Amino acid sequence: MTSFDKATGRDRYFAAKERELDALLDPETGMLSERFAREIPCPLCAAESYSRLFVKRGYTIVRCDECDLVYANPQVDERLVLDEYREGSSSDLWVDVLTSERQLQLDREKFSKVLDELEPYRGSSSLLDVGCSIGLFLHLAEQRGWKGVGTEVGKRALAYARNCFGLEVVDTPLSEAGFEPASFDVVTLNSVLEHTQEPRGMLRQVAELLRPGGALHLIVPNVESLACRVLHERAATFDGRNHVIYFSPSTLRDALEREGFEVVETHTRVSSLTPVLEWLGYREPYSDTDTSADPLAGKLLRNQDRVEALLEELDLGYKLHCLAVRPG
Ligand SMILES: [Zn+2]
Repeated sequence: MTSFDKATGRDRYFAAKERELDALLDPETGMLSERFAREIPCPLCAAESYSRLFVKRGYTIVRCDECDLVYANPQVDERLVLDEYREGSSSDLWVDVLTSERQLQLDREKFSKVLDELEPYRGSSSLLDVGCSIGLFLHLAEQRGWKGVGTEVGKRALAYARNCFGLEVVDTPLSEAGFEPASFDVVTLNSVLEHTQEPRGMLRQVAELLRPGGALHLIVPNVESLACRVLHERAATFDGRNHVIYFSPSTLRDALEREGFEVVETHTRVSSLTPVLEWLGYREPYSDTDTSADPLAGKLLRNQDRVEALLEELDLGYKLHCLAVRPG
């Protein structure tokens, strides 16, 4: 069987992304070049004091001493990065990942469950999907009768959303899109908030766009997942440039509450067990090694359904889903 990474094109995406990350490094030190680096206070609580967790490929990942938020610091000062480094080939290759048959199938199932959760907030059925990428979520929402609009700045993803799904998508950042305040029943930030250097500002904008009682759904990587806890810097989610903030269930709740949201519920999905078992067997994570001959891995794989259910029960899944409301 073809591995998941190869079947979805993730292997090519990660190779391209690594080349882009390397382009901003200082060849002398191997660290993010001071030319492009900007030291920042905590993006959640503004504290200046943090503890360093690890360095990955020149990008330093830290944890705030006050609120426990994990984030990249210093961060890339995007104002100083040349356009050729700003939107490289990896974002185009990610469109290949998202439009691979295997990934589409997984995402259809995932988004279908999210849409089930959003039914109680339907109101007039107006929905905004921020960073809608290829538009699959909006497409599924429209099939259920939602009137959706998206924002997307990635050119290839935007073209796919407009041409293949016929969606209304604006190609500006949220702050410049000109949406009416309190005009949406539901806003979604699926795989978006981990990319923004100012997550609270984005949540504040979303709160203004939601009607009172409207709902926000988020998906972010879970920094307290089993995979992150076991693999540390080897976990694919850590890169310091594309993902700049790494939420846990408690820090995401903290961020939402600071911007006036009430969290309805959080849960985690996706076991990401394969790279963990590779690492436990002294193999490189994501190396596509058959671990079933290892006694521990074999036992866990034979009980995979139970293991995955337990990981979700303990909030150890790789992806964190959260539903919050703007109080009425
Ligand atoms: Zn903090």
